[in-house]
Parts: sequence; structure tokens; C-alpha cells
Amino acid sequence: MRTKQDFPSINERQAIGVNPEGRPYRVLVVDDSMFVTKQISQILTSEGFDVVGVAGNGLEGLEKYKELFPNVDLVTMDITMPKMDGVSALEKIIEFDKNARVVMISALGKQDLVKKSLLIGAKNYIVKPLDRKKVLERVLLALK
Ligand SMILES: [Mg+2]
Repeated sequence: MRTKQDFPSINERQAIGVNPEGRPYRVLVVDDSMFVTKQISQILTSEGFDVVGVAGNGLEGLEKYKELFPNVDLVTMDITMPKMDGVSALEKIIEFDKNARVVMISALGKQDLVKKSLLIGAKNYIVKPLDRKKVLERVLLALK
């Protein structure tokens, strides 16, 4: 696990992926597209977040969450995935940990599933294609 010391102060700005005690926020990234998991991981790690796990479908995501718990602060959850979709995985993760912080990653045109996810307990959502600013903004909102 990385600490504050791994981010030398090139400037004085504190990495936003680090909590007030200087510990990186730990993120599990769930998406069946390797392109998207790489993209999210790159955005988050560049800001000091710690990507502690990656899963390629909802079932694997659920299993990884249970494995990592309680050492996981946030999940990014794709909606459309094989084996178990993101909405079902969200449901099961919340069943397991009612305080889970999950941000849904949605393709365009999935408003109904996004709404459903927010009702189930997702903290926020991001619509693809992923925009760096939006990813960071929504993830930080979900961590508040
Ligand atoms: Mg997908």
C-alpha cells in the first residue's frame, strides 16, 4: 500500500486521492472492458488513489469486495457486464455492506438503470466516454 511519502511534493498541492490522514483512498474497479479499467485506474492513481482491485464482471466484483472488506473505500461499477450485471452486483454489495460507496459507470442511454442504481444505494454515476475531471469529481463526491 502506498503512503503520502510516495508522492513527493513537486508542488504543495496535496493529492486528492488521499484522505486527511494522508492515507490513499482504496478503490475497486469493476468493468468488463480492459480499456475502461485501465483508463479509470490511470486517472485515479495519477491523483494518489490506490486501486486495490480490478474485476471483469459483477460476480468477480462482488467476490473481490468481500475479500477486500473492510479495506476498500469505493467501487466503480460498470452497468453492462457478463455473468452478473453491475446493478445486481451493486445490490449484493449493499446487502453485504450497507455503507458501501459505489459509483456506477454507465453507457449513454441507460438512464433507467442509473436511476435504479441510485435508488438501491449507489452514491453517484458517471456516463461514458469517461472524462477525467468528471471521474475525479464524482468519485470525490461519493467519498464525502
Ligand atoms: Mg461493460
